[in-house]
Amino acid sequence: MSTESRTLTGERALGPGTRLQFLPGIGPARARLFERLGISTLEHLLRHYPRTYLDVRRFVTVKDLKPGEPVTVRGTVKSAAAVRTRAGRTDFSATLGDGTGVLACYFFGQGFLARTLRPGTPVVVSGEIDGLERRMLNPMFEASEADVEELLNVGRMVPVHALTAGLTARVMRRAVRAALDAAADRVADPVPEGTGSAPGPMTLGEALRQIHFPADDAGLAAARRRLVFEELFLLQTVLELRRRALGEADRTFVRAGRGLLAGRAVEALPWPLTGDQCRALDEIVADLKRPIPMHRMLLGDVGSGKTVVAYLAALHVIESGHPVAFMTPTEILSRQHGETLTRLARAVGIPIAVLTASTPAAERREIADRLRGGEALIAIGTHALIEAKIEIPTLGLAIVDEQHRFGVRQRARLAQKGGIPDLLVLTATPIPRTLTLACFGDLDVSTLRARPPGRGRLVTRIAGEEKFPQVLEFMAGEIAAGRQAYVVVPMIEETGRLSVRAAEAEFERLRAQPALRAFRIELLHGRLKPSECRAVMDEFAAGRVQALVATTVIEVGVDVPNATLMVVENADRFGLTQLHQLRGRVGRGAHRSVCVLIAGPDAGPRGRERLEVLARLDDGFAIAEEDLRLRGPGELWGTRQSGLPRLKLADLSRDEALLEEAREAARETVGGDPHLLGSANAALRSALLLNYAEPLEFALTG
Ligand code: ADP
Ligand code: MG
Repeated sequence: MSTESRTLTGERALGPGTRLQFLPGIGPARARLFERLGISTLEHLLRHYPRTYLDVRRFVTVKDLKPGEPVTVRGTVKSAAAVRTRAGRTDFSATLGDGTGVLACYFFGQGFLARTLRPGTPVVVSGEIDGLERRMLNPMFEASEADVEELLNVGRMVPVHALTAGLTARVMRRAVRAALDAAADRVADPVPEGTGSAPGPMTLGEALRQIHFPADDAGLAAARRRLVFEELFLLQTVLELRRRALGEADRTFVRAGRGLLAGRAVEALPWPLTGDQCRALDEIVADLKRPIPMHRMLLGDVGSGKTVVAYLAALHVIESGHPVAFMTPTEILSRQHGETLTRLARAVGIPIAVLTASTPAAERREIADRLRGGEALIAIGTHALIEAKIEIPTLGLAIVDEQHRFGVRQRARLAQKGGIPDLLVLTATPIPRTLTLACFGDLDVSTLRARPPGRGRLVTRIAGEEKFPQVLEFMAGEIAAGRQAYVVVPMIEETGRLSVRAAEAEFERLRAQPALRAFRIELLHGRLKPSECRAVMDEFAAGRVQALVATTVIEVGVDVPNATLMVVENADRFGLTQLHQLRGRVGRGAHRSVCVLIAGPDAGPRGRERLEVLARLDDGFAIAEEDLRLRGPGELWGTRQSGLPRLKLADLSRDEALLEEAREAARETVGGDPHLLGSANAALRSALLLNYAEPLEFALTG
């Protein structure tokens, strides 16, 4: 698809779509190096924005050089020599004079510079003086009389681009410069003319020039703004298209009944709903009655009682005659919710079906048939199971427990299954608004702040491994008093087997303790067969197992109110939010509970300090904020898996205002041309199809 053609004089006319190898100075061999960075055309190269900049705009004379300041010096090469090191490497050493003094420069592994930087050559170098040796190590340089305007590698804000082996920064900068000159002004601007005021007056071509080689701070800021806006605008347009595709389809049925079932169910609950639960339910039901699909998050700290709210919402939908899918991240949770809801639903006589990997094939087929036939039942299972195997053409409501494992893609997939179901997402971790905007376009939120009453106190202690005997003694005491305990060992990244072994070792260690000998201890980890998992959990829930040694399979949602002790080994290996989730497994009953976080041998003072955050805070929202600060939003939300495209320039913690403006602009654009068929939106349309092909199929083929 290359667009190069020949001019009358036989020269190749370069354009944004031209393959890189035709750029002067590149050629096929270098083009292959660029390919490794995903760059095959001039436009790709122009969109390969610098990662950062080295600011070496300050020119100084040699006599004014001070160590540790990035500066630029202009002079003439005085002496130069290749230096062969004992390691067999050839370095290059040179001195440069400017009439005020002499500066020593040293280039590791760059003996070939002897050919360029000969004595007498005018040269400009940029870098920092090494305080100890009083010389510049590996300075950037330009060997020419070039006037300041044309300097690419020195004396300016020097762009630092991502590179790959064999491709030097100098080659990269020269290629970018050439591509800018050849094609920057002809890159099609995906932002339609007259869109908002946010992008500013700078043209796309100028923005590309300034982002790579900023003339000054203002130029860089304006370029960044222009390109960040473009990036966010594209993303928001995708979300807006999807929102409309989901919302436009007429609802052919109302998804909420009159609330008789839910009313009966509330009366049958063993306790009254809290005020927050009532309010959240009202908000959800109001959504269910509206003609556009609900997209709501139910946000409530661990133990705040989200499940029952979801259950009551489900009953409203069931009453209207539609099935409900309740999706959980793990099998354990599916089964647990299955048991909870079966118990609760007995009062109203509603069928609950639990689908797990261990559901016998015949039973699964039967449930699948009922769902396909549109029977109004609540089907509980893991995402994988419900998304992949089961057709629910009249699905009324999809409930997703624990948001962070469920993203944009999954939602789109659900929506395509048949009709557009309402979506209710249950989560304990608040998402920063910028992230919801970026991921979902928008999302309504209901919050459970107050916890249900009647809970015992929950205290958190931090201890070193040396306190193990005391922890053991305490555990024995709790168990003797009729309580139960969890001991959790961390999942070790990428080596699932190791954590299984760690869990096994811990299990053996506890079983060998005389103080615990009289009690039943069991082991739970992800390598067990589902049936074994289930057996262990059942015994624990029934109180016949007193202590459970587990990997993080129990992290989310497990609810055994009689458990009062949570011991987390090597706690410093967990994220704060995850620890808060683990801690939330206790403190669910009337008894006082304790969570002991044991810092691992290599936790160090910083690791322990991090754990102190948990001892200090018991509010999950505050902890999530702290976690966000420590780890960044991507980590916290697994946005990589959740389908949020990698943003090249935008920084969600800084660019919130631009994000809002981009959203407004996207709404306007899509509002005026829902399938982007107008000529003003042609470049936008093709940019979207290029970058977001998959999620857009259903939005743009209208
Ligand atoms: P989470 O929000 O973490 O999913 P759950 O839904 O598992 O919390 O609820 C935690 C515990 O609180 C459960 O044992 C549940 O039965 C109980 N619970 C929920 N709502 C109330 C309430 N209104 N009053 C008393 N206990 C409640
Ligand atoms: Mg839960």
